[in-house]
Amino acid sequence: MRIALFGGTFDPVHIGHLGAARAAARLLRLDQVLFVPSASPPHKLRHRLTPYEHRFGMVALACGGKGKFVPSLLEAPPSDGQPQYSVLTAQRLKRTLRSGDRLFFLLGADAFLDLPHWKDHDRLLGLADFVVVSRPGFSIRDIRKVIRSGPLRRLKSPAGLKTFRLLRTTLHVIEGMHVEVAAREIRKKVAAGGPVSGLVPPWVEDYIEKEGLYHAG
Ligand code: ATP
Repeated sequence: MRIALFGGTFDPVHIGHLGAARAAARLLRLDQVLFVPSASPPHKLRHRLTPYEHRFGMVALACGGKGKFVPSLLEAPPSDGQPQYSVLTAQRLKRTLRSGDRLFFLLGADAFLDLPHWKDHDRLLGLADFVVVSRPGFSIRDIRKVIRSGPLRRLKSPAGLKTFRLLRTTLHVIEGMHVEVAAREIRKKVAAGGPVSGLVPPWVEDYIEKEGLYHAG
């Protein structure tokens, strides 16, 4: 099995996430993409997060009917309330895999540029192949700043994908994605009473409406 771990706050999950997962699944022939909403992300406490149950619920709705997309409880609320570090989640997931399985760590260009600030990022790089998806406003060229040692060699890969062997990981770059959607814009739009159709899957839009999420006041 070829399995990708796709972590985030998913507050809410949107078409940018789904596009990234779809492109990665196709280009890397993934069997599963695990969408892992984080209950207590260490590096994203800038806004008050919507309760985990709602974020997970929306992810479950977005994954519905899409065979390869799996809503995962790997980062459900921890009993000790400690921040959930990706390195520990990847380690836990890896222990459940069978020999011959391959783990991919999927993230957008913005998140990858932040990687040097993540706990034990060098160790994390060694646990999975990395898949970086382009995102408007973030230069894929800047990823060289994160990979200090530079690529060791370019590997053969299908059109739409650039693959490099690095010191600690294999890095796959998907440059063709330009989905100009961010969760914070969706939250703002809902608060202003605007429509979000087309930005989130219809069932997620419905859920936001029914639960009264992101409304001002
Ligand atoms: P916020 O606006 O609240 O910061 P977000 O839209 O960036 O949220 P996250 O849940 O933080 O969403 O993102 C989870 C993962 O999905 C990250 O790796 C992020 O880089 C990636 N991602 C989010 N939006 C896009 C997009 N439009 N294109 C490509 N990748 C994306």
